[in-house]
Amino acid sequence: MGFGRRKVLDFNLTKEQEMIRKEVWKFAINEIAPIASDLDEKEEFSVELTKKMGEIGLFGMFVSEKYEGQAMDYLSYIIAVEEIARVDGSQAATIAAGNSLGIGPIYYFGTEEQKKKYLPKLCSGEGLWGFGLTEPTAGSDAGGSKTTAVQDGDDWIINGSKIFITNAACELTMGVTVQAVTDTRPDGKNEYTCFLVEPGMPGFKAVPMHKKMMWRSSNTAELYFDNVRVPKDNILGNRGDGFHQMLKTLDGGRLSIGAMGLGGAQGAFDAALKYAKEREQFGQPISKFQAIAFKLADSAMEIECARNLMYKACWLRNQNLPFAKEAAMAKLYCSELMGRVANHAVQIHGGYGLMKEYNVERFYRDQKLLDIGEGTSEVQRMVISRYIGC
Ligand SMILES: Cc1cc2nc3c(=O)[nH]c(=O)nc-3n(C[C@H](O)[C@H](O)[C@H](O)COP(=O)(O)OP(=O)(O)OC[C@H]3O[C@@H](n4cnc5c(N)ncnc54)[C@H](O)[C@@H]3O)c2cc1C
Repeated sequence: MGFGRRKVLDFNLTKEQEMIRKEVWKFAINEIAPIASDLDEKEEFSVELTKKMGEIGLFGMFVSEKYEGQAMDYLSYIIAVEEIARVDGSQAATIAAGNSLGIGPIYYFGTEEQKKKYLPKLCSGEGLWGFGLTEPTAGSDAGGSKTTAVQDGDDWIINGSKIFITNAACELTMGVTVQAVTDTRPDGKNEYTCFLVEPGMPGFKAVPMHKKMMWRSSNTAELYFDNVRVPKDNILGNRGDGFHQMLKTLDGGRLSIGAMGLGGAQGAFDAALKYAKEREQFGQPISKFQAIAFKLADSAMEIECARNLMYKACWLRNQNLPFAKEAAMAKLYCSELMGRVANHAVQIHGGYGLMKEYNVERFYRDQKLLDIGEGTSEVQRMVISRYIGC
């Protein structure tokens, strides 16, 4: 085959992906933009808005039709998160956590019964599911979990607690996947198993966390397990697979956090460019000052780099090729990029950039979580270092 006839690189999105971008952006502008600031101010999770996001198909995007998902490719999902994040980090968090952390583990590792039982409602947005990995004394060191589950006949008894769990304590919460220590392996390391725990199980308490700096209208919870008895059928997939399931989930989750960085950077950039063209000082628009124009030029260039990195990682995932290194790179780069762009955006807005009336202030705050959630920037650098052979 001649080189000329081989399609080696193709940067075009499919018609379907283009359509998703357009439709989700339209939804974000019409339904989210008018209330995002108010929800942020009131620290209010909106059930109504979440259901609307479900109605337009933003949950279960990569889940097959068999479980009433939207059966789309991973890049389509990432584009949707990106477009929501251009307008509001909190709603993007509800979508990203709902899909990658809530639906993902059940879809990829659950038994047939579990998938049939939970996925249809989670894919319609009628229900949300949490991902309970982080504990008060085990964050970056996810292998340091202290929550335990002990077998008692056909049941397991869970004791311990989790912290900072997204979508785990709101009206729509249908349950949470919980990683617990279930034994010690022959090599002396802990054996971890994941359990599906539902609200109402005696001894299980989910408490919403308030006073967050960012993602103020997303739902975050502390979870307490006091002798919570769960049937063995609530083990996610197989006993002993818990740690592997959690790490695999985080690989995909990192792409969605990266998408929030990419979309958030685009949103902050759009606002900064518009403002720079409108605001006049010394008799001309401030965009004409090189100091301002270069900030915008750097932002535009970095957003382009970030999008290429992110979409390549998604492409690898779509092809079932290894993508964990690229996912860590995309998460790290897009998160930190949004920090630089949001910082420029506030600077370009001057004093007005510090006021709540202008959205760049919210973007500036929302960004900080991206350096921390689903593996801090330091952890991403550790992951990448390992992949490059350090
Ligand atoms: C709003 C919000 C939502 C979240 N949602 C979820 C969720 O749905 N599910 C869930 O399980 N978790 C969730 N998290 C938890 C999040 O993933 C953790 O906060 C994160 O992994 C960091 O853990 P930590 O906060 O305990 O920080 P720590 O691990 O204590 O880290 C503190 C600092 O030390 C650094 N550090 C730690 N170890 C090393 C090392 N070996 N080398 C260099 N530096 C190191 C870190 O990078 C960081 O800068 C959420 C957090 C927030 C704030």
